[in-house]
Amino acid sequence: MVGKYSPVFGGANLVGGYNQVMGTTSDVEPVGVPAGNFSEWLRGAEVSLRSGKGGTAVPCGDCTACCRSSMFIHIKPEETQTIQRIPRALLFPAPGLPEGHVLMGYSDNGHCPMLVDNKCSIYEYRPQTCRSYDCRVFTATGVPVDQQIQSEIAHRVNAWVFNYESEESRKEHMVLKDAAAFLRKNGDLFPHGSLPTHPAQLAALAVRIYSVFADATAKMNNGASAMSDAVIAQAIMTALNEPETLSK
Ligand code: SF4
Repeated sequence: MVGKYSPVFGGANLVGGYNQVMGTTSDVEPVGVPAGNFSEWLRGAEVSLRSGKGGTAVPCGDCTACCRSSMFIHIKPEETQTIQRIPRALLFPAPGLPEGHVLMGYSDNGHCPMLVDNKCSIYEYRPQTCRSYDCRVFTATGVPVDQQIQSEIAHRVNAWVFNYESEESRKEHMVLKDAAAFLRKNGDLFPHGSLPTHPAQLAALAVRIYSVFADATAKMNNGASAMSDAVIAQAIMTALNEPETLSK
């Protein structure tokens, strides 16, 4: 095994579903792959990240990029059916998590060891982490994927194209991108260590705090006096410490 441990979405599970079709991988770079309705995706992602359960299914088609991108997969102790189907030698204790939580590493070529003939060999019993992964979160937030390590995912992220049911939906997308940019730019306004550095975790956080950021932006657009970045950061921290306020 090579590489460092980089939990896909960390404590918060990845949003969305997972490969519905695990066919062969096309060598042709996808261009303009429909990502679905943006506002529907955002609502599903918000709910999914709050509940820690998977959201909408990802229209992966024949893509298997995330199965071949040097990822460590977190598996919870209660996922017994999954653990039973993975050779014990491929699992090791998850650093920093209670006993029973394990990680599955990847092969020397960066592929998931359960990917056989470019198909998931335990698809029916795949880990919750895999079920929840949705690379559209990068397209939605504008948080860049690590091009060096995950270039294939980056290709797919660049190919997704959301559609918008209205101008309001298009604005929501702009605000989400602004929220992600705010987090990336203003790390020094948050308590040390409170913002994730891993791109997937940061993108997930942007979705989680979208409603708080959108509220602040709307107030300012409606004539309220300008809020400083520090005040907005404080509102975000307050909401994260009181998760029930995020679920409204
Ligand atoms: S990289 Fe994205 S599109 Fe490709 S299999 Fe993973 S989630 Fe699906």
